[in-house]
Amino acid sequence: MCTSKNPCMSENDVTQLAEQFSFTLPTQQEIDASIFSAKATVEEGETPPAYEAERYSVEGEESGEGTRRRSTEGDGGRKRNLVFPPAPAPLPHPIMDNHTHMDLLDGEVEISVHDALDTGAALGIESVVQVGCDIPSSLYAVKVASVEPRVLAAVALHPNEAPKLAETGELDRALAAIEKMASHERVRAIGETGLDYFRTGEDGKDAQQYSFREHIRIAKKHGKALQIHDRDAHDDVVRILNEEGAPEKVVFHCYSGDAELAEICNTNGWYMSFAGTVTFKNSHGIQESLKIARPELVLAETDAPFLTPHPFRGRPNASYMVNYTVRFMAQHREQDLQELCRTIYDNTHRVYGSWAD
Ligand SMILES: [Zn+2]
Ligand SMILES: [Zn+2]
Repeated sequence: MCTSKNPCMSENDVTQLAEQFSFTLPTQQEIDASIFSAKATVEEGETPPAYEAERYSVEGEESGEGTRRRSTEGDGGRKRNLVFPPAPAPLPHPIMDNHTHMDLLDGEVEISVHDALDTGAALGIESVVQVGCDIPSSLYAVKVASVEPRVLAAVALHPNEAPKLAETGELDRALAAIEKMASHERVRAIGETGLDYFRTGEDGKDAQQYSFREHIRIAKKHGKALQIHDRDAHDDVVRILNEEGAPEKVVFHCYSGDAELAEICNTNGWYMSFAGTVTFKNSHGIQESLKIARPELVLAETDAPFLTPHPFRGRPNASYMVNYTVRFMAQHREQDLQELCRTIYDNTHRVYGSWAD
């Protein structure tokens, strides 16, 4: 928590940190750029206007330096369909996308933060948490959250980044920068952190676990939620949380566990944030978890541009698509859609506080 002894990170501090890490912060103009002269109208069954390739193509344009892009190939090396999926009907009650990466490019259009948020708002997604995976993307999240009232930030070093930073001797410097950002008032979560044994092998485990423990410490010290990335590492994630003592608010982002982990979350009061993966036909464990999750622990997210929900799997993802995931969730839980949205809305506020503050 920031106090007079330990003041909140200022905008000046953000600029300085960006300079130290040679990162060019997005400008207000870039964030606010919009193709709409008035409020966005989004027609059900059509790709939202801002996401239509014809409107403004990035082809031939230089994309931002260091901007990461989702691969244009799918799992089997096949070319993916890069057209953004059609809009669903608006939700009957607003919700939030509590995990998105608006700085990551996918598809054939570059979408400004403003247009992404306007499109989401038209379909019932009132606000988002923009999540960092390294120093540049965390700085990006802080900057966007500090100028855009519909965005809060999460900052962290992704578990797949930690071993790379450790190898070059930069991990502690990067962790210190994350800790600095943790004191910013628009940063409401430390994440995504955790363990990923799918992409990182045995030799990266020590660095991952050390980094995860440090992120837990930072979250507790600054009174922020912890957003966990857990891929093929349920047992160690739970073990380390218990060893360190879990922060008050813990979120399993893109929840990927089975009923056993759901019971552990239920017992500990840890939040389960469901992404597009819950809609996939073979996601039996996740679907079972969704069914038994205590309602007050359920959250929803996109992890956009990844993990596009069924039936658009493989296509680009964006915050407006969390709408499809929540519809699936209501159906699967045999719950009224409006009631589930209201629950998610309340839960999300409980974890991250108010977007208006
Ligand atoms: Zn993740
Ligand atoms: Zn993510």
